[in-house]
Amino acid sequence: MRLLLVEDDSLLGDGIRAGLRLAGHTVDWVKDGVAAQLALEAEEYSLVVLDLGLPRLSGLELLRWLRQSGETLPVLILTARDTVADRVKGLDSGADDYLVKPFDLEELAARVRSLLRRSSGRASPLLTHGEITLDPAAHRTTRNGQAVELSPREFAILQRLMESAGRTLSREQLEQSLYGWNEEVESNAVEVHIHHLRKKLGTELIRTVRGVGYMIDKHG
Ligand code: CA
Repeated sequence: MRLLLVEDDSLLGDGIRAGLRLAGHTVDWVKDGVAAQLALEAEEYSLVVLDLGLPRLSGLELLRWLRQSGETLPVLILTARDTVADRVKGLDSGADDYLVKPFDLEELAARVRSLLRRSSGRASPLLTHGEITLDPAAHRTTRNGQAVELSPREFAILQRLMESAGRTLSREQLEQSLYGWNEEVESNAVEVHIHHLRKKLGTELIRTVRGVGYMIDKHG
């Protein structure tokens, strides 16, 4: 999934970005509230990890702006100030969860997974479709109970399609969840990954919707 990290502390931001990448996400990182606003206007993200104390525009101001503009994507706030009032203000301003610094990167990754799961309307941590099961926490895919080896990008595409089962996703939407700002998009990358996924998981799982994109049917 593609996430936006808003954190002005270089050392902490570096660690969080590395941790989230390790958990299989694409991460764009900005260091102030105004840059975050611009990024949110320009790109499509699945979740925001938001520090509250930021230059130019505070995390709370950004959060209020985001919710006033009708944006529903999950927001996890990071706060250094371990006061109840701050956390309550954050949650009341539209945050979905919070972590108090210092926190464990594994806990951050688990909370991110839980928020993404809820935002895609799922209570179960596993995604299943027919004989295919995908476990986002363990980064494991099975077919009829047998493990299937997928590359990180194949896994990301499969997860995105399974979470959006019943909806067609365009090649651009799939690319968006694979690449951050500093990465060059290889042409035909999505087609190549889909080709490999079909080879590993069967040709009937992912349907091509001609001229539109790809989809996995809702019930399989
Ligand atoms: Ca800060």
